[in-house]
Amino acid sequence: MMSYPADAVLVLVDVTPSGEAASSTAALIGAASTIGSPVALVIGGSQAATDAAAAAGASVVLTADTDAEVLTVPLVDALHAAFTKVQPDAVLISNSITGRDVAGRFAARAKLALSVDVIGVSRDDEGIVAHHSVYGGAYLVDSAPTYGAPVITVRQGAVDARGEAVAQPTVEVLEVTASGAPGAKAGPVEVVEVASSRPELRGATKVVSGGRGLGSKEQFVLVEQLADALGAAIGASRAAVDAGYIPYAHQVGQTGVSVSPQLYVAVGISGAIQHRAGMQTAKTIVAINKDGDAPIFDIADFGIVGDLFTIVPQVVEALEAR
Ligand code: FAD
Repeated sequence: MMSYPADAVLVLVDVTPSGEAASSTAALIGAASTIGSPVALVIGGSQAATDAAAAAGASVVLTADTDAEVLTVPLVDALHAAFTKVQPDAVLISNSITGRDVAGRFAARAKLALSVDVIGVSRDDEGIVAHHSVYGGAYLVDSAPTYGAPVITVRQGAVDARGEAVAQPTVEVLEVTASGAPGAKAGPVEVVEVASSRPELRGATKVVSGGRGLGSKEQFVLVEQLADALGAAIGASRAAVDAGYIPYAHQVGQTGVSVSPQLYVAVGISGAIQHRAGMQTAKTIVAINKDGDAPIFDIADFGIVGDLFTIVPQVVEALEAR
């Protein structure tokens, strides 16, 4: 009978369709290592993802060979089986679209407390504490469950902690019994790969976002040029999305994606609180805006006051000349 660390923290590793561990893995396991001993769950049994989990600091890796790569209910079944075996102090899951879906369903099924979109975790005398950035980053608040192990989704890019690589992890194949829960029969109709050489917005280390100041879909290409010169993902304000400059998937903010990149460049964005809610935890914020009183400058580390149509081409030219 396998025994698990007394202070185990169960981490659900996001596995890409090609069987790689998602870029969120190192930070998730790093966060787990600050509050206990990371035990990773890798769905699909991919060797590459198992190796990545061990390299990120998981001493125990559970693999579950379910057909769960794109279906939520089998993921929840596997997570439930792992939780029952390991009896961890907490469960950490990426705050990705799938991660949030799995976390909510799992917490409801296991009757556990759920904390979403956290930017850090710690442990005090009473147990595990999750840290949240709320109201556009104006306040940091903590949440701690009063019973049971918390289920926590971690904002991508928000955690810097990294675990120590484990040379010879214990790898165990998990037996999973399908629950037949509602939704279990749902399957993918079609998987559409979006071909893009640009980084994905969620989890990107650099993001360039454009706002209403770009003025049109055609002129939004300036944001794309700057993003490409920096190797950054593309974001946008809601005003830019609503005006049809770019699809909703790129919206950053309260009703869009939350990002915590190393570098966030806001071009022609005023910095409304709903936008700040999704980017205020970025490590370095650069703003380009012609209005020196724009609220975005209140949170910017570097600000350029001027016409973006003059400044952005100059910055792109300088970057490309390097
Ligand atoms: P504006 O506020 O119009 O700002 C445009 C900026 O461009 C201005 O500061 C202007 O000075 C500058 N500018 C114009 N021309 C130039 C130029 N030539 N050179 C340089 N600068 C120039 N917003 C989000 O972004 N994300 C959300 O998720 C979101 N969710 C919301 C949820 C709710 C419930 C509500 C009520 C609102 C939400 N909003 C959200 C909308 C938000 O309140 C703002 O309306 C929006 O963020 C404004 O976008 P913007 O900064 O691009 O546009």
